[in-house]
Amino acid sequence: MSERTLAIIKPDAVKKQVIGDIIHRYEQAGLRPVAIRMMVMSKATAEGFYAVHRARPFFDSLCAFMSSGPVVVLVLKGDNAIKKHRELMGATDPAKADKGTIRAAHGANIEYNAVHGSDSPDTARVEIAYFFPEMSVVA
Ligand code: ADP
Ligand code: MG
Repeated sequence: MSERTLAIIKPDAVKKQVIGDIIHRYEQAGLRPVAIRMMVMSKATAEGFYAVHRARPFFDSLCAFMSSGPVVVLVLKGDNAIKKHRELMGATDPAKADKGTIRAAHGANIEYNAVHGSDSPDTARVEIAYFFPEMSVVA
């Protein structure tokens, strides 16, 4: 079933100049970018995006990191896009991520891990609407 997911190429990956490599991996896997936005998140935008994690000890550091430089936010579309993207990303901790995944290739540690991906259809809907409000009414 075709679905949409939200991806973020995080500030560490933009700094490493691997935007092209990451988007190439999406396209090779059959995930089609249908919206792309490059931006620097304010601290408040990062805090709103990661609100579910606000009680976690790493929340402040995570939001400082996510607002520390440019990111590329994308909506990816394809069959099983959410699960397929999570598989391409690899585990949250790059040291535990399978070989060949984006985080194994480009992540430095459990915080600086190169990419974000929605983890469920509900999260994908909310996250897409957060950065692309004009797409929230599109099926
Ligand atoms: P994922 O991005 O794989 O869905 P989570 O939703 O659990 O992982 O966490 C969101 C982000 O918070 C992670 O991608 C990572 O950047 C950061 N993070 C997660 N766990 C930790 C941790 N223990 N210490 C520091 N940062 C973390
Ligand atoms: Mg998550």
